Amino acid sequence: MAAYVDTLVVATSNKGKLEELRALLAGLPIEVRAVAEVMADPPSVDEDGQTFTDNATKKAREIAHATMMLTLADDSGLEVDALGGRPGVRSARFAHARATDAENNAALLAALEAHGDPPSAEGFPARFRCVLALVDPFTGGGEPRTVEGECLGTITRAARGSGGFGYDPLFVVEGTGRTMAELDEAEKNRLSHRGRAFASLRPLLERVLVERAEQARRVE
Ligand code: IMP
Repeated sequence: MAAYVDTLVVATSNKGKLEELRALLAGLPIEVRAVAEVMADPPSVDEDGQTFTDNATKKAREIAHATMMLTLADDSGLEVDALGGRPGVRSARFAHARATDAENNAALLAALEAHGDPPSAEGFPARFRCVLALVDPFTGGGEPRTVEGECLGTITRAARGSGGFGYDPLFVVEGTGRTMAELDEAEKNRLSHRGRAFASLRPLLERVLVERAEQARRVE
């Protein structure tokens, strides 16, 4: 008999995130699928929470409810100390509702302008944060279980590098002297908030798979 393979539905259409997740979960009896691959008209979830955890858990709950499948959702963004944690959950929309990365980067530098010189030569202290929420409709009472990753660094006024996306060219990764946009993909996946959150997801997922197998045996 073939071994049972669970499906993990991911509330994203971002191919890069799906590939990174597949690589990190290699060896687990799990197949990673984008939500659009498992349902025709997936619900669009309004990311209106006050925290990354609010948004990630809301997305995971709604997609798990719609698909009745094991579901993962993420939310991430940049927090800058001098700006009281902004842009935070508004990272994608910092300049305006449909802002490009260039517009958001310009808005970030403009907001920091009012703060004069940075506290150190490295720039303004900041962190990228990523929260992942996992919902299994059949175990854990259907409640979200979350893991987090963060990447510390500083915001520089002189953009550098051409890799990545978003605020990468302005974010100098602590201990590297390089911006996120100057790291190659493997380095970014190892050091980034998302890479770290994905790494913590693996043991959580292993536990949930065991619970699902026990649950399935009980109802057989
Ligand atoms: P999302 O959670 O992937 O939708 O990210 C929200 C926003 O946070 C993005 O639009 C970016 O502005 C910012 N962001 C999240 N992760 C990164 C990253 O790894 N590099 C640069 N910007 C990021």
